[in-house]
Amino acid sequence: GAPVSNVAGIGNGAKNGVLIKGGEVMNTLANVDTLVFDKTGTLTEGKTAVTQVKNYGMDNTSLAMATAIEQHSDHPLANAVVQFANDHGIDSDRYSVKSVDTIKGRGVQATINGQQVLIGNAALMMDHRINLLTQQQSDLVGIQNQGSSSVIVAVAGKVQLILGISDVVRQNVAESLQQLKRLGIKKTVMLTGDNQATAEAVANQIGIDTVHAELMPEQKVAYVKKYQSQGHRIAFIGDGINDSPSIATADIGIAMGGGTDVAVETSDVVLMASKFDELVHAFGLAKKTVANTK
Ligand code: ADP
Ligand code: MG
Repeated sequence: GAPVSNVAGIGNGAKNGVLIKGGEVMNTLANVDTLVFDKTGTLTEGKTAVTQVKNYGMDNTSLAMATAIEQHSDHPLANAVVQFANDHGIDSDRYSVKSVDTIKGRGVQATINGQQVLIGNAALMMDHRINLLTQQQSDLVGIQNQGSSSVIVAVAGKVQLILGISDVVRQNVAESLQQLKRLGIKKTVMLTGDNQATAEAVANQIGIDTVHAELMPEQKVAYVKKYQSQGHRIAFIGDGINDSPSIATADIGIAMGGGTDVAVETSDVVLMASKFDELVHAFGLAKKTVANTK
């Protein structure tokens, strides 16, 4: 069985909102040197909201079309679009959307009244040879440099709408990352499917060392494996949307308590209140517990 001091450590963790699944987890966690974080829903709350609207001339038509399509998607960006349209009384029911195609890592598309509607990132537009005008390009860069995500809507081959969608960074993230460094963490990494500029803006805001952006879920796992193969001991912290495989692959998988059921089940450690104080506490506790058993 686990050493008595480890069991005491687990009890202490539970009192502070951290679920640590077994004594062996304590030992492994104490030896972690690299923390790898998912962005959306982990470093941020995952509560997306439209905060900027750049409309290039179709009145509310392009927003109504986008809403009719995004109703069929459960992506956090789609939720923000639908919420925004509802709040502003946009009537999207006038468009019937029979089927929506999801384009992995890019966005969604559908046909409305014989017109192709594309909703997603710049890569999606590039795939369809849709150019952004100079003003549209600078609007997009402006949104991303603030750390907001962006959604581009093109109708019949022309960009009609760009939305800026913000998400709040969780409380105490910057302070917690500094404390973790003092406790012995050597390196912090962000992995995200979001675009490079948005990811870097958020990383700079909170003090993350390295950013890998525009990733597919399987590329997140590949980065975890790459850091492991370089001799690092990794804890991956995620919410389970797109990142459960990374939670399972890391030396220690840490799930946000508010994350998916799969994430919570697959993980070694659960931050019950999805708080960064809990992460600091868990790591500090592991260090202390292991020091006591030596
Ligand atoms: P992530 O959710 O981690 O960003 P995804 O692979 O789900 O990764 O999506 C990658 C990118 O594709 C998103 O960052 C976004 O730019 C775009 N995207 C995906 N789904 C949608 C959607 N329903 N509406 C708008 N954009 C989308
Ligand atoms: Mg996430």
